[in-house]
Amino acid sequence: MLEESSISREEAEEMAACFARVREKIKKAAGEREVKLLAATKTVSAEKINYAVDHLGLDCIGENRVQELLEKYDALHKDNLRIDFIGSLQTNKVKYIIDKVDMIHSVDSLKLAQEIDRRAEKIGRVMDVLVEVNIGREASKGGVLPEDLPALLDALDSLEHISVCGMMVIPPKIEAGDAPEKYFTESFQIFLDIFRKKYHNRERTPILSMGMSDSYEIAVENGSDLVRIGSALFGKRNYTAKAESIKTEE
Ligand SMILES: *Cc1c(COP(=O)(O)O)cnc(C)c1O
Repeated sequence: MLEESSISREEAEEMAACFARVREKIKKAAGEREVKLLAATKTVSAEKINYAVDHLGLDCIGENRVQELLEKYDALHKDNLRIDFIGSLQTNKVKYIIDKVDMIHSVDSLKLAQEIDRRAEKIGRVMDVLVEVNIGREASKGGVLPEDLPALLDALDSLEHISVCGMMVIPPKIEAGDAPEKYFTESFQIFLDIFRKKYHNRERTPILSMGMSDSYEIAVENGSDLVRIGSALFGKRNYTAKAESIKTEE
């Protein structure tokens, strides 16, 4: 079965076991709810991604560097694959991905939204976006501060070529003494108060993108609709020399 793939049988078996384990845990945490699994595929080869698409039912990936996405893009088996952009995005790079991705998770300024809108209009599409909220108020992270969110959403109303589909968060590491669900419950409350209220009359209900390898069960228990999981599916990331050079370019 692996004849046209360059990944080893061990890698294939390991990946299959990881996918099964993660899906089982998501299912347990989600109960009756429908929770989407997005595989965060930075540093993961196109061969590995394709194996997961062809054999493990993977149908949604997220890349977070423009350069890396462009390098892998042609090789990916895209027929049944949704490709999201989940990393921080510079305005001047929107043009490279506007025709390649299905959703951008990291909109955190009007300027970036305007550029996505402009580029989407040019190619005659509407781009699905999530607004990233900096729930931990960390200077090192992207995202709009919670108090600035309503004004940003109001400004986005006028952009006809983006569709605001919900909210994304990357919570800080939990400090000793904090409840482990702290940032997830705070995020869910903002999501309910602002997104669910504002967009309640939409055909598609808004989604909350929250939870990574170290936290997805607790994120799902606290209202996440979509988890972005990398290392729990593909193993510890191996930042090769190549990936490092990509990293510093951005
Ligand atoms: C890498 C990444 C993830 C997944 O991280 P893991 O800890 O490997 O699961 C999720 N979201 C974003 C934005 C990422 O860059």
